[in-house]
Amino acid sequence: MPATPAYPPHSAPRLFVDLALSEGAEIRLDGSHAHYLLKVMRIKQGDPVKLFDDRSGEYLAHVSALGKRDLILLVNGKTREREAVPDLWLCTAPIKKDRFSWIAEKATELGVAKMIPVQTERTQSHNIKPEKLRTHMIEAAEQCERTALPALDPLIKLTDMLEQWPADRHLFFADERIHESGEGSFRKALVAHEGPAAILIGPEGGFTDAENEMIRALPQSVPVSLGPRILRADTAALAAISLWMAGRGDWNPG
Ligand code: SAH
Repeated sequence: MPATPAYPPHSAPRLFVDLALSEGAEIRLDGSHAHYLLKVMRIKQGDPVKLFDDRSGEYLAHVSALGKRDLILLVNGKTREREAVPDLWLCTAPIKKDRFSWIAEKATELGVAKMIPVQTERTQSHNIKPEKLRTHMIEAAEQCERTALPALDPLIKLTDMLEQWPADRHLFFADERIHESGEGSFRKALVAHEGPAAILIGPEGGFTDAENEMIRALPQSVPVSLGPRILRADTAALAAISLWMAGRGDWNPG
């Protein structure tokens, strides 16, 4: 007979903390971390908690003191090193708030190293909230056993981004107009372009003709198609990341 499932679940809560962790350190948690552990997880003295810091890795800690609104954790030992993340950036124009958060969450799960919000002529939502995006990234990483978070750049104008673009990084430019021309095979582009990479996805209204030309004029730009059907920007971002991960990232074991 299967055992009656225990509640709360046995697996230790897993949290990101924004400080350098090390064996033997004592960490005081308050605010939302403390609320989660004390009120939601009903954590007790001696209970285990997993922590990761996006710097050195993941650690096992135990509750060494409990207050009403804070608690102290004693870090026992490192359980995992910080993972290696494939060298892929996602440059994407902000779209409606919830959908942009969704992109941040999924990009984290899929393993991008950096997310760059890009302001284009048809970008509708200019006031993105970086703390909100980061919260979505952190929650995805906590839940998915990740030990690394993507970096999150401030919003940058497309023109500025292209001007400063690193010489050694390919920019896979998702262009919904290229498919009909019979060019833009993502598969061929991946074969031909190894090394540091980024994906560029436009806003809901797409890039203007002038922007399209400007992106193509960048020597590092590689226009690619995501098929004959137009995708929403969030779907396009996920599809492109997945293709790159399978072709050039770390999805192929062995
Ligand atoms: N131009 C359209 C659609 C924009 S879709 C319009 O005016 O509504 C938003 C972004 O997703 C595009 O800028 C592009 O980067 C990407 N995208 C969507 N479908 C695509 C496809 N089939 N191939 C390549 N990129 C695509």
